[in-house]
Order: sequence, then structure tokens, then C-alpha cells
Amino acid sequence: MRIGLTILIAVVLVSCSGTDSESDVTVDTNDDQVFEWKLVTTWPKNYPGLGLAPENFSKKVAAMSNGRLQIKVFGAGQLVPAFEVFDAVSQGTAQVGHGASYYWTGKSKATAFFTSVPFGLNAQEMNGWLHYGGGLELWRELYDEFNLIPFAGGNTGVQMAGWFNREINSMEDIKGLKMRIPGLGGDVITRAGGVSVTISGGELYTAMQTGVIDALEWVSPYNDIALGFHQVAKYYYYPGWHEPGPTLELIINKDAYATLPSDLQAIVETAARAVNQDMLDEYTARNNEALISLVETHGVQLRKLPDEVIAELRSISMDMFDELANDSDIAKRIADSVKSFQQQATAYHEISEEAYYNARKQN
Ligand code: CA
Repeated sequence: MRIGLTILIAVVLVSCSGTDSESDVTVDTNDDQVFEWKLVTTWPKNYPGLGLAPENFSKKVAAMSNGRLQIKVFGAGQLVPAFEVFDAVSQGTAQVGHGASYYWTGKSKATAFFTSVPFGLNAQEMNGWLHYGGGLELWRELYDEFNLIPFAGGNTGVQMAGWFNREINSMEDIKGLKMRIPGLGGDVITRAGGVSVTISGGELYTAMQTGVIDALEWVSPYNDIALGFHQVAKYYYYPGWHEPGPTLELIINKDAYATLPSDLQAIVETAARAVNQDMLDEYTARNNEALISLVETHGVQLRKLPDEVIAELRSISMDMFDELANDSDIAKRIADSVKSFQQQATAYHEISEEAYYNARKQN
């Protein structure tokens, strides 16, 4: 086996030498070393939907590396509490973290840009911006001072506006509304007269059941039905204006990443990319049947937010976006980048995705 591998490498090297072909592949000498990493998440262990992404990531990396990189997943509270994931990975207590960047606005307000901006990019556009529009480079620059390398680690597609125990007929109904809604969406609700709170996923059901909150947003039908929110809330509102293309994050301790040979680094990057897309594919397939079940089997009352409420929330969101852009130099550069990308994507999507949706409806 070892001789065979050596010959193979020799053949590859010989076949590359004497040609002009360029290759950035380097042969590492420590290819037998086994790395054992810890991954901490903001989700409870094996939490449905979002919480399965870190497990998938760990399995993909183990399979692709033939067991040379083993990543043990710890749910929220097992090694560190949900909202200490960022610090734990930054300090190297764990090498990897999975969660959402908007949980860390206390570290830097600009982290909010990389989960979802209200009325911002959808999943397809977000992936385009991150991977081909300069977004990921800005995200890495932002996290550099925290000793972290971020990767996109999942996307749910457009979410639902959330579960409510009161009807929303006008902006008056937002006043005093106590809602679990993190990030910029939460700031918008606060400015509209509500009270936004950030509660980790594992505590949501009880918070709603006991009346600690009047409303909550989590994800979309496939994920929400698994958590039973229809048992503790009356109305299910759409659309998810606050999270049109939410990206989850995989964060890796920079020093730990640097110790990996280049092939394992490539495996980590490829596995993250696969997990990111895989989540979108799964939600795209499963939301449909989950919605039918919620409405037809569980009698959930599906409601659309009134146009005037959407218009007001959009107006507040635009103001908040501009204020956030003025928070720091890097926030301004991220805001300019995402804004210009959105303008172009909107123009093109008017004649592609949007035109196609309309064409399909009229048939
Ligand atoms: Ca959400």
C-alpha cells in the first residue's frame, strides 16, 4: 500500500515535471497524523434541522479524510453554553463552532451582515455574494482579529415571519410584542415598538408555552414542525422579511486550521461548502410537505403580514442598514459590497427568477 502510494506520487510528480502545467498541490509529509477536534454548536445535540449540519460536517470530513480528521460534536451546554461558542473557538477550547454570525453582534455589529439582512439577499444570492462576490473575503477580514476563519455552513432559504399568539393587523399590534427574533430583524422589531429577545433554540418552546414571549421566529415549516411550535402558538405568519437567505456559519480556530496539512484544509473547505448547499436542498424539499401537514393536520392558521406592516418594517430596515453601515470602516465596506450586489441581483432576477415565477403562475 505504502509502496503503491509512493509510486503513485512519483508518477504524478514525474508527469508534472518538464511541463508548463501549474499546480498548487503540495505533498505533505505528515499524512499519517490523526487530528482529533472538538466542534461546539449553538444548537442542542442532534437538534432537528439546523442542528444536524454540524453532524453532517463531521461525518463528511471523517469520510473524505479516511479518518485522519475526526471532529467530535458537542451540543449546546455540553462543553460550553450556546452563546459562548464564538469565544470558545476563538480561544481554542474547541477548534470548530457552528451557529449564526448574528449571535455575535456584541463582538462587532457588522457580524449581522453575514447571517441575513432584512429585505436583503435570498439564499441563492447570498451564496453568490459570499463565494463569487467578495462577501467571504470581507467576513474573513472581520473575524481575523478574533483568530477565527468563517465558512458558510448552511442556508435555510426564505424563512417564515414566525409564530404569534396575537394577530398582526397593523403596526399597532407590534407595540409591546415580546418576540424572540435575533439580529437586525430584532432591532427592527424593537424600533417598531416591540421587545426583541434572543433565546437559544433549546429554550424556545417553553418560553412560548409559558408566555415569556408572545411570538417567535425560528426557521420554516420543516424545522418548526419538528419542534412543535404549532402546539404553543396560534398563528403562523409569512413572509420571513427579516431572514430571506440566512447563512449559518462554521467557524474554525485559525491556529488549529494552520496545523492541518493542505489536503485536510481542502477537505474542510469542501465539506463546509457541501453542508451549506445540502441544508438548502433539504429545506427546499421538506418545507412543502411540512406546510401541508401544519395546515391540514394541525389546523395552523396561516397568515400573511399586511402590506402596510411589511412596508413599514422595510422602511425601518433601510434606516437601520444605513446606520449599521456607519458603525465602522469595515461595516461600511461590507454594506457597500452587499448593497451593490443586491442592486445588480435584483435587476437580473427581475428578468430571470421573478419573471419565471410569474410565468409559471399564469400557466
Ligand atoms: Ca430564524
